[in-house]
Amino acid sequence: PSPLSLTELKALVRTVPDFPKPGIQFRDITTLIGDGAGLSSSIHHLAKIARAKGAQKIAGMEARGFIFGAAVAVQLGIGFVPVRKPGKLPIKTIGIDYTLEYGTDRLEIDPDAIADGERVVIVDDLIATGGTAIASAKLLRMAGALVEDAVFVIDLPDLGGTDRLHEEGVTVSTLIDFE
Ligand code: IMP
Repeated sequence: PSPLSLTELKALVRTVPDFPKPGIQFRDITTLIGDGAGLSSSIHHLAKIARAKGAQKIAGMEARGFIFGAAVAVQLGIGFVPVRKPGKLPIKTIGIDYTLEYGTDRLEIDPDAIADGERVVIVDDLIATGGTAIASAKLLRMAGALVEDAVFVIDLPDLGGTDRLHEEGVTVSTLIDFE
């Protein structure tokens, strides 16, 4: 079967009002990945972009970036680098602290996960402010990666993440957006 269109993918995303706090419209991919055609078509479209970008490895952020990122890596026949929440990897990691709207968070990777100069494409479900993806790009670069591209299922353009990533030398591609 031919893959679903981006319009059809968008219709499979569930919008949950007032999560995680009042006034936020949460875009929930649970319904998208629960649909067989939705899941495979999402991967198809993401993988096509990552292939065109010359990805040699895919990096995905815990947890939803693991779902899309690992599947894209399989499609391309390349390796996957998990960008993890703190304390999860059983080795000496390298990490980066970054600021959120309220407080700070931290991401960690295996310092040996990437060969020097390897072209790594970031994959995640959604870009909002871009803070998570920028921290990930910096961390992957610390490990020797060449990071010039990031691919997301969903863009929230009003939050400006795409422009912020551009300033860090990362080109953003997205499948669908919610104004
Ligand atoms: P950013 O760092 O502000 O770009 O936020 C992106 C991160 O927060 C991603 O890892 C997303 O999974 C998560 N996120 C933010 N808003 C939403 C949403 O509406 N739906 C699902 N995930 C979200």
